[in-house]
Amino acid sequence: MKKPKILLLFAGGTIAMVNNLENTLAPAPYAEEFTNLIPELNDHFNIDSQFITSVDSTNIQITHWEKIATIIEANISNYDGFVVTHGTDTMSFTSSAVSYALQDLGKPVVFTGAQLPISHWRTDAKLNLINAMAVASMNLGEVVIAFGSKILRANRSTKQSESDFSAFVSNKYPFIGNIKSEITLNSFHKPRSNKKPTLKANFDENVVVLPIIPGLNPKHFDALLNSGVSGIVITAVGAGNIPNGAKTLTPSLVKATEMGIPVVIATQCNQGTVHMNLYETGVAAFDSGAISGQDMTLEAATTKLMWALGQTKDLNQIREIMEKNIAGELTVK
Ligand code: ASP
Repeated sequence: MKKPKILLLFAGGTIAMVNNLENTLAPAPYAEEFTNLIPELNDHFNIDSQFITSVDSTNIQITHWEKIATIIEANISNYDGFVVTHGTDTMSFTSSAVSYALQDLGKPVVFTGAQLPISHWRTDAKLNLINAMAVASMNLGEVVIAFGSKILRANRSTKQSESDFSAFVSNKYPFIGNIKSEITLNSFHKPRSNKKPTLKANFDENVVVLPIIPGLNPKHFDALLNSGVSGIVITAVGAGNIPNGAKTLTPSLVKATEMGIPVVIATQCNQGTVHMNLYETGVAAFDSGAISGQDMTLEAATTKLMWALGQTKDLNQIREIMEKNIAGELTVK
């Protein structure tokens, strides 16, 4: 049988880390060569690799997202699938961003990483990488995370545990596959197709997230508006509720709209969706021009806003982009 041809992109993370002199984990100098530690990979896959970066993903930058998307788009016809090794801390952000930059993908792009470095005797890196390669050979046409025993749509994923070998959850969308003794995809995945993505890899990094807490002083939000910010994601309470009584944020939201700064309302709840018409507190924010983040995760909403601002600065167009489903990140009612 012909071995699947996979392009492996190295983007750092624990999977490629070693203990340094201070005995803390730091990026390994040999990151580019770490597949040599799993020789069986070459028995099953025909692998080429490209180096993106070796940073802890806490330090990942938008330029890395752009580089990952650009390399995949340029190589889309040359490989059966793509695997990106990346730190788990921001994997949901990077993989969501790549899903917007490469719409109409047609082939699998599989992110994976590890909780324990590949040099550790109990590492999960080897199995995660082997499974990611297998998933990248399957009938899949979208950006996913394969980690532990789960396959998740990237822009529906969230890192939930800093130590669990199945670290990611998909609270608002079913898992799209399971990694057991067999790897199975369920009916929620997008299958392979002959579609070719159009690369749209521009992002605006001037996006800030502000959680609502009781007693939040609107002057902090107003300071944000004057800080050079391009867009704001508010993690509201409950169904998308923003204070409109004591310490009301309503005049600040109106100001944001007047300044052409999009404000997207996400929720602090892990389950359910934003319903801005349910309570007066939500209606006030909606009437002030805020955009509903619907059931998008924080990672999906922030990277989508960065992506939307990379395509246009027109508030109406940004609203339109944010409200529609572009890569499976929100549930169309
Ligand atoms: N701090 C690490 C990173 O995100 C954690 C990991 O890879 O799991 O790069």
